[in-house]
Amino acid sequence: MPKQYRELGGQPVLARTLACFAEQPGITDILVVIHGDDREQYAAAAKAFGGRLLKPVTGGATRQASVHAGLCRLRDLSPQRVLIHDAARPFASPCLIDRVQTSLSEHDGAVPGLPVTDTLKQVEDGRITKTVDRSRLWSVQTPQGFAFDAILSAHDAAAAQDRADFTDDASLAEWQGLDVAVVAGEAGNVKLTTDDDFADAERQLRSGGAGMGGELRIGQGFDVHALGPGNHVMLGGVEIPHERGLLGHSDADVVLHAATDALLGAIGDGDIGTHFPPSDPQWKDAASDLFLRDAMKRVAARGGDVVNLDITVICEEPRIGPHRDAMRTRISEIMGLDSGRVSVKASTSEGLGFTGRREGIAVQAAVMVRFR
Ligand code: MG
Repeated sequence: MPKQYRELGGQPVLARTLACFAEQPGITDILVVIHGDDREQYAAAAKAFGGRLLKPVTGGATRQASVHAGLCRLRDLSPQRVLIHDAARPFASPCLIDRVQTSLSEHDGAVPGLPVTDTLKQVEDGRITKTVDRSRLWSVQTPQGFAFDAILSAHDAAAAQDRADFTDDASLAEWQGLDVAVVAGEAGNVKLTTDDDFADAERQLRSGGAGMGGELRIGQGFDVHALGPGNHVMLGGVEIPHERGLLGHSDADVVLHAATDALLGAIGDGDIGTHFPPSDPQWKDAASDLFLRDAMKRVAARGGDVVNLDITVICEEPRIGPHRDAMRTRISEIMGLDSGRVSVKASTSEGLGFTGRREGIAVQAAVMVRFR
C-alpha cells in the first residue's frame, strides 16, 4: 500500500497530513494530487474533511509532474500563494506552517530547513574520498510556500523544456531565479518512507516524544438510560441479552453515548445532543457507533489522537463482567484504537439510588487526547 494511505496510530497517514492544514488560518482550499489507482483509499482517508478540500486531481509520472498537475488545477481559483506539501509528512506543526506562510509576505518562496549536523562524506566504491564542507548545507522539508504565479510559471517553463529532474519545488524556483528564504524546520516533521520510519512514528505518537509533543486534554462524559420493556441492552456496541431493555431515541447505548461526550468534551465541541438532536427523527433507533465515529472524526480534524478511554458502567443488572472483553474489543474497533487503550469497568451502587433500584444504567467515561 502506498505509504500515504498506510495506517499510523489508527488513521491513514494522509488523514493526519490533511489535519495539519484543515484548521490552519489563512488556508482557503486544499487539493490532493493522487494516483489514478488510489481513488478508494483517498476517499477513505479524506472522508472526514469537507469544506476546504477540493476534488483530487490525478498526478503524473514524477513528483514534479504531479505538482504541476495540481498547480494547473488551482489556476482557476487564482490564489495568491500556495503551499506544496508531501502527503507522507503528517507531523508539520501549526507553528512550522505559520513560519512558511509569514515568510511569503517578504519572499517569492519560503522553505523549512534544518542545518546539516552530521559530518558528510563523499563515498566511491565503499571508500571515503572526501569530507564535504557542511557549513552552508541545509536539509529542506515541506510545506514549501510560493507566490502562486511564480511557481506555476517555473513549472510551466520546466515542462516546456522537458526538464523533469527537479526533486523539490524550491529547486524549480532557484532555477528560475526566484527569491526563496529558508525558515526554521522541525526535526519532528519527518517524511515517512521506510518501515522503520513508521515504527518510530508510531512509538513517538503514543509516547508524545520529542518533536511530536503537543498538548494533552482530558474529556469526561456521563449518561443515563432507563430500563424498560425489552429483551436486550446495547452496551459498548455489544448486544447483551437481558429480560429488560434500555429506553432511548437511538439504540440507547449508554456506554457509547458517554464515550462520545467524553471525546466532544476534550475538544470543547458541545455534546452528543448538539450534533445529533433527539428531536431529529433520523436518529431514531440509530446504532450509536455512528455518534462515536463522528466524535472521533472531530477529534482527528483538530489534530488529536486518543491516548486512552476509561469507562465505568454503574448498574445492578445485567452483569457486565462476562461481556467486558467483547465491549473493549468493539469500542476499540469503532475508535481505531488498540484494545489496550480502552478500559471497561463495572460497579454497582450498593443498592442505593436509581441504579440500585434497577431503574436504569449510568455510565461515566474519561478520555485523554493528545493534540499535535
Ligand atoms: Mg444517551
